[in-house]
Amino acid sequence: MSGCLFCRIIAGEIPATIVYRSDDVIAFRDAHPQAPTHILVIPTRHIASLADVQASDTALLGRLITVAGQVAQAEKLNAGYRLVVNTGTQAGQSVFHLHVHLLGGRAMHWPPG
Ligand code: AMP
Repeated sequence: MSGCLFCRIIAGEIPATIVYRSDDVIAFRDAHPQAPTHILVIPTRHIASLADVQASDTALLGRLITVAGQVAQAEKLNAGYRLVVNTGTQAGQSVFHLHVHLLGGRAMHWPPG
């Protein structure tokens, strides 16, 4: 989708450090990391948020989580990691292209802010 920041990263129009790429999913390092490891896992097809997911996207959602786990393993986050999907403005979503945050490399607190 033209004008979508993450679609432009997928298209190679905006640089990013890509750590995983397949036809349906890519993962790249967050530009403003909130943990020593902070990677975004996103579908290559534009879906604005989790609120826009359809039943037909179930397999794709599974892929996002599976890839996040594989990337966590590749990043050696053996002590643990957290996956976050901010959905909507009140949750802090700022980029409206569905993404899973993979955060690791430090102790996480609960409840999150
Ligand atoms: P959210 O606030 O959940 O929508 O997360 C959006 C994330 O995208 C934030 O963690 C930003 O730091 C990250 N971000 C914004 N622009 C870029 C960019 N050009 N490359 C990589 N990450 C970005």
